[in-house]
Amino acid sequence: MTSAPIATALLSLRQIVLPRFCPCGEPTSLLCPACLAACSGPPLRAEAAAPALNVVVSARIRECAVVTAPLFPVSVLGAYTGRLRRAVLAAKNGRQWALLDGFAHALAPALSELQETWRDEGEFFLLPIPSRPQNVFRRGEDQVLALSRLLARETGSSLAPFRLVNRGVSGRGKRARERRGNRRGSMRVMGLSRADKERSPGVVLVDDVLTTGATLADAHRALAEAGVRVLGALCLAAAFPGLENPPREDYSSDTSHR
Ligand SMILES: [Zn+2]
Repeated sequence: MTSAPIATALLSLRQIVLPRFCPCGEPTSLLCPACLAACSGPPLRAEAAAPALNVVVSARIRECAVVTAPLFPVSVLGAYTGRLRRAVLAAKNGRQWALLDGFAHALAPALSELQETWRDEGEFFLLPIPSRPQNVFRRGEDQVLALSRLLARETGSSLAPFRLVNRGVSGRGKRARERRGNRRGSMRVMGLSRADKERSPGVVLVDDVLTTGATLADAHRALAEAGVRVLGALCLAAAFPGLENPPREDYSSDTSHR
């Protein structure tokens, strides 16, 4: 992984040498006004539309009624379509790392709200969802880790002193898991000290694109087994139907995840 000062220097050099285009193709600075508007938030809540994040909390047999609730709140900048999708892809695959700075700035209010909601619970950490090593190699950087660092800098918070890692799964095991249609048990926690575990630390997960919520639910499962509380998650965009024109909800309205 490239260290931050070297990455910054390379980015500056790239911006001098290469012409700059918005991800939509507009010959402009980093983002054209329309894309900037699409990528600037404000953050909106998306956990209710992620099926894997909603678990059954009670069932009334007689009425055949099942009540579900999300595991924790998830904020995104918008639907994974159009201009936001192009910008996210440019940050992920096009190596336009400077876009991450803007994304971190746009997501910061959601993290600040979480800090306010959980201010009596002591310090909590940002914890990036791990990228696959082959993707980090291909892209030149772990964008989710970079986004987490920028968010930490933007909000005065800290990255977790422990991390999530993907479990090595054999091809055969992976195919079996894919047949089951889930990602159960694909992550584990590393680097969690006994002292950290005794404090039962809280974390806010960071990822790029929210789909069904299975990845975040998997992270939650691994962290809960290790004694770590997940207080929320921040993602750049949400890729599922029904979020084309989502309502902008009050971030602090739901504390059912506690
Ligand atoms: Zn544009």
